[in-house]
Amino acid sequence: MLSKFKNVLVLAPHTDDGELGAGGTINKLIELGANVYYFAFSTVEQSVPDGYPKDILKKEVRKATKKLGIKEENLIIYCYEVRKLNYVRQEILEDLIEYRKKIKPDLVLMPSLHDIHQDHSTIAKEGLRAFKQTTILGYELIWNNLSFDTTSFVKLKKRHIEAKCNALKEYQSQGMRDYMSEDFIKSLAKTRGVQIGCKYAEAFEVVRWVI
Ligand SMILES: [Zn+2]
Repeated sequence: MLSKFKNVLVLAPHTDDGELGAGGTINKLIELGANVYYFAFSTVEQSVPDGYPKDILKKEVRKATKKLGIKEENLIIYCYEVRKLNYVRQEILEDLIEYRKKIKPDLVLMPSLHDIHQDHSTIAKEGLRAFKQTTILGYELIWNNLSFDTTSFVKLKKRHIEAKCNALKEYQSQGMRDYMSEDFIKSLAKTRGVQIGCKYAEAFEVVRWVI
């Protein structure tokens, strides 16, 4: 089923959201031969912890996406200001429409429409506007989800979860966050696996399903 997707677009409001929400699935898609594009809309320069250069996340996202198998030329980094993506909603929509024609994705992975973070919510809404004719799955970031319908699952092997953990280790500037811990990442993957009778999985909300 997953192997039918050839061009996949991951929309990450901030560098790291794509890896956190769908890192295992991205790694599996690439293993199955998909061409995966990753768009990050903010490098969070205004909230980088003290002691790190302002552009640290630009470097970290390059290393992290490489660990998942994403080609360097498929990584597009925008530098919109964190927490203010809704101020540039139209520009973001136009960016997405421009690439829709170039990439022609058959699967889009983006934050859930129930994600309450203002930047995540903006990317989810503009993503749906731009790709309403495409299959869209919303990824899970439990610390921002008031509710999350586990309507879709991707079964994963240990190697996919290891790749996700290795990618996230590249975000040294974000290492203090609870959700970056390997223990948490594996526990959630096991939880989602238990729901569908396998060892590891990632859950997604079906936003749109084009068969
Ligand atoms: Zn984020």
